[in-house]
Amino acid sequence: MRLKPTLKRNLPERDVLRLGDLANWRFEGTPLAVLGHPVKHSVSPEMHNAALRELAVRNPAFKDWHYFKFDIEPERLREALDLLYENRFKGLNLTVPHKILAAQWIEAAEPEVRLSGACNTLLWTENGYRGYNTDLYGMTRAIEESFALKLQGRQVLLIGAGGAARAAAVACLTHEVGALHLTNRTREKLDLLVEELAGIRADIPISIHPLTGAFSIASPNLIVINATSLGLKESDPAPAVLWGLHPATKVLDMIYNPSKTALLKQAESLGMRTANGLPMLVFQGERSFKIWTKNSPSVETMFRAAVDGLAE
Ligand code: NAP
Repeated sequence: MRLKPTLKRNLPERDVLRLGDLANWRFEGTPLAVLGHPVKHSVSPEMHNAALRELAVRNPAFKDWHYFKFDIEPERLREALDLLYENRFKGLNLTVPHKILAAQWIEAAEPEVRLSGACNTLLWTENGYRGYNTDLYGMTRAIEESFALKLQGRQVLLIGAGGAARAAAVACLTHEVGALHLTNRTREKLDLLVEELAGIRADIPISIHPLTGAFSIASPNLIVINATSLGLKESDPAPAVLWGLHPATKVLDMIYNPSKTALLKQAESLGMRTANGLPMLVFQGERSFKIWTKNSPSVETMFRAAVDGLAE
């Protein structure tokens, strides 16, 4: 691949690149990227490139920055990270299923990565990539914006035990939820997560629930968060049944593409307030952008670009 900043208008934004594209990487600007598998659904490139274009108007030093999208299988993540580092990718986002794997390899990491065991943002440094997790901030801000409430004192039912669920669980504990209810398809992964969360806030009750059947949680103060990847395909069923939960329950699905998953449809039919993962994407992206560029992006610009990207 030979890409010159002068050809910026023609740079791939919607294209999905692969490991092979790094073999002769010749981009002469400052590259950023998201790595995932699958990753086709991601509108992170549209969102970050819009913010970069806006920043470049104020500060031309950013005119040659560009954000790419790579589909990388988990077996090849290590190799990909080495190649991206060699090619001086200044910043990376990690999405499904890479967040836990990457956290195990990154030696220099912010406390939120060590607490959650998950990493979604990497910053190039002379000594290797430094790890961050901006999902904690993204999820917390998304709940505040979408439902006009704070996590503190709420009951939270979290579905999943992967990278995003780990970040969400740590955010819930550090923001002092009243109780944390956890459920996941694979019990062993959930048990491991509960073990790792134990030291964070021993005073907050954590309980494990089966994923099949109705949940026995009666609180009107409940927020349900889907942090599984079930729903990414239009045909996917909901990961859980919400019948029996209080109609005042709020439901956040971290998935934003498709915009209304089977879980959100089910919640709406039960009269519950819902939000998809778009606000979370934008807020976690805002934080990552600031880590890489040391500049605050316009959240409105990022949101608009993500919505436009989804509409195309
Ligand atoms: P991950 O580490 O691969 O974890 C996947 C989770 O989904 C695990 O809990 C897994 O359960 C569960 N799962 C997968 N297939 C399932 C199925 N068929 N039935 C039930 N559960 C299933 O992925 P991740 O990084 O945590 O991401 C999870 C989701 O959150 C993705 O859809 C991602 O796009 C979304 N996300 C969105 C944002 C945002 O900004 N909006 C940020 C982060 C993540 P097992 O343990 O049983 O395998």
